[in-house]
Amino acid sequence: MKAGHKYVYFFGGGKADGTAKMKNLLGGKGANIAEMVNLGMPVPPGFTLTTEACNEFYARKRKYPPGLKKEAEAKLTRVERLMKQRFGDPKDPLLFSVRSGARASMPGMMETVLNVGLTTKTIPTLIKKTGNPRFVSDAYRRLIAMYSDVVMEKAAGIEPEEGKGIRGPLEGLIGKVKGKQGDDADLDLTADDWKSLCTQFKKTVKKVLGKPFPDDPMAQMWGAIDAVFLSWFGKRAVSYRRIEGLPDDWGTAVNVQTMVFGNMGDDCATGVAFTRNPATGDNNFYGEWLINAQGEDVVAGIRTPFAINNVSKVATNKHLPTLQGSMPKLYKQLDGIRRKLDKHYRDMQDIEFTIQHGVLYMLQTRVGKRNGPAAIKMAVDMVKERLITKEVAVSRVRPEQVDELLHPMLDIKAEKTAKKLGTGLPAGPGGGVGQIVLTADRAEQLGNLGEKVILVREETSPEDVHGMKPSQAILTSKGGMTSHAALVARGWGKCCIVGCGDIGHIDFKKKTVKFGNKTLKEGDWISMNGTKGVIYEGRLPMVATGPEKNPSYKKLMTWADQIRRLKVRTNADTPEDSKVAISLGAEGIGLTRTEHMFFGERIWAMREMIMAEDKKGREKALAKLLPMQRKDFFGIFKAMNGRPVTIRLLDPPLHEFIPHEKATQKEMAKRLGVSVKAVAAKADFLSEFNPMLGHRGCRLGITYPEITAMQARAIFQAVVKCRKQRIKVSPEIMVPLVGTSEEFNNQKAVIDAVAVEVMTKSKMKFPYMVGTMIEIPRAVLVADEIAKTAEFFSFGTNDLTQMAFGYSRDDAGVFLPEYVGNKILADDPFQAIDQGGVGQLMKMGVERGRATRKKLKIGICGEHGGEPGSVGFCHEIGLDYVSCSPFRVPIARLAAARAVLAEKDRKRKKKK
Ligand code: ADP
Ligand code: MG
Ligand code: MG
Repeated sequence: MKAGHKYVYFFGGGKADGTAKMKNLLGGKGANIAEMVNLGMPVPPGFTLTTEACNEFYARKRKYPPGLKKEAEAKLTRVERLMKQRFGDPKDPLLFSVRSGARASMPGMMETVLNVGLTTKTIPTLIKKTGNPRFVSDAYRRLIAMYSDVVMEKAAGIEPEEGKGIRGPLEGLIGKVKGKQGDDADLDLTADDWKSLCTQFKKTVKKVLGKPFPDDPMAQMWGAIDAVFLSWFGKRAVSYRRIEGLPDDWGTAVNVQTMVFGNMGDDCATGVAFTRNPATGDNNFYGEWLINAQGEDVVAGIRTPFAINNVSKVATNKHLPTLQGSMPKLYKQLDGIRRKLDKHYRDMQDIEFTIQHGVLYMLQTRVGKRNGPAAIKMAVDMVKERLITKEVAVSRVRPEQVDELLHPMLDIKAEKTAKKLGTGLPAGPGGGVGQIVLTADRAEQLGNLGEKVILVREETSPEDVHGMKPSQAILTSKGGMTSHAALVARGWGKCCIVGCGDIGHIDFKKKTVKFGNKTLKEGDWISMNGTKGVIYEGRLPMVATGPEKNPSYKKLMTWADQIRRLKVRTNADTPEDSKVAISLGAEGIGLTRTEHMFFGERIWAMREMIMAEDKKGREKALAKLLPMQRKDFFGIFKAMNGRPVTIRLLDPPLHEFIPHEKATQKEMAKRLGVSVKAVAAKADFLSEFNPMLGHRGCRLGITYPEITAMQARAIFQAVVKCRKQRIKVSPEIMVPLVGTSEEFNNQKAVIDAVAVEVMTKSKMKFPYMVGTMIEIPRAVLVADEIAKTAEFFSFGTNDLTQMAFGYSRDDAGVFLPEYVGNKILADDPFQAIDQGGVGQLMKMGVERGRATRKKLKIGICGEHGGEPGSVGFCHEIGLDYVSCSPFRVPIARLAAARAVLAEKDRKRKKKK
């Protein structure tokens, strides 16, 4: 099959087989380690087993391809020569870490085993060499704990319930020793404590897992490599890939790397840092470190991390030493590396480093996660710094990140008087209001029911991800800005506060949590300001921020507007919404729903029309509605000031305007001067088995042309009024739910007749367009016929999806989540256009429509118009514009620009 194929890539001593470009093969971690080595940075040497090796491993039923083991062992020998040490050598042993690394970072999902190679033979030498028995025993117990958990339990297919795995009893043993001595931190345990713990650990492993902890270095190494490959199909990794939409066939790489130690004394340290501030985007070195510690200690939130420099300081570590202050030379070296990496990658990097006896080692670099405001600032700054082009800047900011700027915040006024429960680190910006829940499962359960919940934990782990997603906000008592909760929340742009020291005991039995000396219960409301890191009691009001004052945002959006071809309109029914949408960049209205204008006091005229016995009676009632509608349209036209405005004629079935309960029917009868019986009879008469497929849309206008006529009259009279005041207007009248060209022509005739009437009366000529929604599959099929008279199309993808799938919009919620969960559908088709099916109908509609009318203007006004992936699709099939709710306008603008860039990218790749 793949004889002679290279499965193992070496790195170290200033040279690496791989480069940063080889992420697919070496995984992100392996490729970037290779790159750092090639850049001449200090990286402990080692080798990478490729993702192909992983895929082969699975293809061969969990066996390695021939030659792979030999290849790896040859690379191991190269490391040994470079280090002048040997793996498993009782005289001077080399130790390894075995690290996973997929193409994309999957925080905490995959496994890593440290200190591989510690055995009863190598331990005594190491103690002699380091003169530090405490360190060696500490390293050994870490190895036993990680190895038994990752290799002997998880990889062996034992998937114990949460908190029931081998880690529990092992941690219990440590707890016992600590308890005996009344100690708190790990640092206070002595060499003898750790030594005796190692012995107990091994006994417990044997007892619980039925197998001894291996004492052979090669067995340890291959066991760990197997385990990393196996973790690719572990429960957590699989569920993470489902949420993030990552494919299974990527596979993971494995990095076997020489161990360096940050915990051998006070001239040792470890840390995690960002080349720019990931929360604000400021071009400052930002990070956390710990003296005398292993890397995982910083992320795990066991100790409060120090700030690496003054600008990284936050409330919890204000008084603690900085790396810059404690080890200035090393800080300078690290800062140099930071600048070099930031420039070289032309993007903010998230780095891991360890200092062993005063020598700096780089362990990892990768593109760092950032929140929306930071993403925008960094992208725009890097264009100014001439590191990237405007196009790259636009393609680098995800539409969801722009959304964060539009996120609501807690009302500042309410915050001033609210009762403060505590403070913590501001890990995810914006406001969050919800009811306390204490477990991820409960958060998932309630969150998916639409309840607003805030997940409160000591810290989070990858096992909590399913409950973090549906929470409004996340709050933890431990951990720093690089803790799991912070990273995950930042990725999602979710409100998050970590390291809130005011949180005391969480009692899972009583379902309570203490804030200082105040006890709150699960279900109690709290509010969070994730930008400042403050938690309040109760349910505070939220306000929208608006991005107008953010210069980087403005710049980025100007670039996006220069790049995009699609126009972006908004769905708005009032002058106020129209103004908001314009301020957010809308170029017109793609959908004004007129039915919203018949509620409130106006519903009585509407009801009068519905109750009328004949056309005359209906016209009398409609005459009351006319001036109100005229006023509505005038207001919108004025606000839009010449931009195109698409107005849809009445769409919903009439029974939506009639009360169905006795009491309200009585009220209606009284007010309209008819009998209760008549009202009830009308309601009965109008009720439908399937209202979605019933008497609605143009079917109403065809049965009652006087409704269409009144609406057209109101529109045209508003046009006349505007023109008299020198306000420009471009009305586009849209007929809903058309399935045949005859339906459309019928309605167009009514509208055109009214236009002539209004023009004659006002002695004024004005342009207008009449077009149709394309939302019934049949309309797609006869689009060429309809386009003979229709001057524009607008895809109503909500109804089109409903009718293409045969899923009732109102009832599909029962089974759609299951469909998506089981991959029967990739996405909810009411959120993202089903490109393979409904999308094909759209494509056909475009082609057939434009076959008749070459320049037919075509848009979309369904919910999908603001969903980034769907916007991209609309670009591809050649629509003229998308229309979406005002707050999604910036998202659509950016998505439309990114679609152009993606298209260019595809063409470029094709040429190659
Ligand atoms: P993750 O993908 O979860 O970040 P890593 O492979 O980076 O996993 O390993 C987790 C931690 O283990 C690192 O943060 C680092 O502190 C530590 N580590 C990994 N390899 C080494 C090594 N060669 N020497 C010292 N520490 C290491
Ligand atoms: Mg890492
Ligand atoms: Mg519709």
